[in-house]
Amino acid sequence: MSTQIFKPKIMDTRWRNEYENQLIKMWEEEGLFKFSYNPHNPTLIIDTPPPYISGKPHVGQVAHYVQIDMIARAYRMLGYNVLVPFYADRNGLPVEIFVERMYGINPHEVAETIDGREKFLELCKKHLDEVEKEFINIWRRLGCIFEYWHEGTDSEEYRKITQSTFIEMWKKGYIYEAERPVIWCPRCKTSLAEAEIEYKNEMAELYYINFQLSDGGNLTIATTRPELLGACLAIAYNPTDNRYKYLKNKKAIVPIYNYIIDIVEHKSVDPSFGTGLMMICSYGDQSDVRIIRELGLKPRLIIKEDGSLNDGVNILVDLKVIEARRYIVEILKNKGFLVKIDKIDRNVPVCWRCGTPIEFIHTHEFFLKQLDYKDVLKEITKNAKFLPEEHKKKLLDWIDSITMDWPISKTRYYATEIPVWRCKSCGSILVPNEKRYYRPWKELPPW
Ligand SMILES: [Zn+2]
Ligand SMILES: [Zn+2]
Repeated sequence: MSTQIFKPKIMDTRWRNEYENQLIKMWEEEGLFKFSYNPHNPTLIIDTPPPYISGKPHVGQVAHYVQIDMIARAYRMLGYNVLVPFYADRNGLPVEIFVERMYGINPHEVAETIDGREKFLELCKKHLDEVEKEFINIWRRLGCIFEYWHEGTDSEEYRKITQSTFIEMWKKGYIYEAERPVIWCPRCKTSLAEAEIEYKNEMAELYYINFQLSDGGNLTIATTRPELLGACLAIAYNPTDNRYKYLKNKKAIVPIYNYIIDIVEHKSVDPSFGTGLMMICSYGDQSDVRIIRELGLKPRLIIKEDGSLNDGVNILVDLKVIEARRYIVEILKNKGFLVKIDKIDRNVPVCWRCGTPIEFIHTHEFFLKQLDYKDVLKEITKNAKFLPEEHKKKLLDWIDSITMDWPISKTRYYATEIPVWRCKSCGSILVPNEKRYYRPWKELPPW
């Protein structure tokens, strides 16, 4: 038997929280969590999408970190080289909207001058630094074995890489500039990607409106967006809908606006919605965008960047969408075009950051081609190994759901600048060669 007496380092009989701080400090001093690479061992890297850190950390994030940490620790004990980098996503709308509200600033106004823009960027950075500190503190305090990477997505190095990628893709012809219909938030005044819209359920009014046929008689269509009458380009019915076969090759007159439009067949019309006749407008929703492109119709653009309307004929001028709707419904009622109003339950697409219903407008943006590469992407996905297997299906479904090229430019500020200059005399776009971080809004062109 050993005669050695066990001497505990901690004499207290109860655990005290302060010990944890001492332990964490000791672990950090020892560099216990520093990633060390041993070429004889397998490596596991856990790289999750960096969190947006525009507000206070959430208890859900804590639960999430603890799970990642459990896996990381288990693999470390199994002999793996384990790396869990932690860095923050410090770009884009979330922080800008926070600063807008906190300081009552309109970034589009202050950013008109270089000084104003710099000041706005500084406020964004200051806020991000503060909240990032809180995030780091939380996982440190939890004892997570993450490695903190100070260079977030707003670092000069990161932005240089983003811009170099842009330049490379531009030169390969994967990126183009065009005026296209984009998903637009009238409050944030920026285009949004398909992944940046969310849906809000609401009770909406469905208006039944009479259209006259150009050769006599009339028909009734149902729409939730009567304010877009002045942007109506056609009326469509489903080719399998026997009720409307007689409308083939006929024309209708748009009420109030009095211009003539075609009546067309389209397989995407749902015969069970409203009367089974659909108004095709530029643009009520994503399917309008697709159908108008397919049929080669010339859009009538009546919604402006700030979400107000101008129909060009002085009926709806400078009214916001909701006001315009009320106003046009009054006119329809007075002139006898309104048949009835129903209530329907529907999902309204809204901006993921501010909750404002989105619109579709035409803007000049840079687009990354993705429609041309859907098959290639699916091929690559099919050949990749996924764990668990069902996540492969998620990605494949997402690729299938893409309906437009990806607008990658935004009229916002706290983000990576598009590294291009435009020639003042001929308007052509000039892209630099050298790989560094460019800020065209305050830099002279490098030529
Ligand atoms: Zn918004
Ligand atoms: Zn030129």
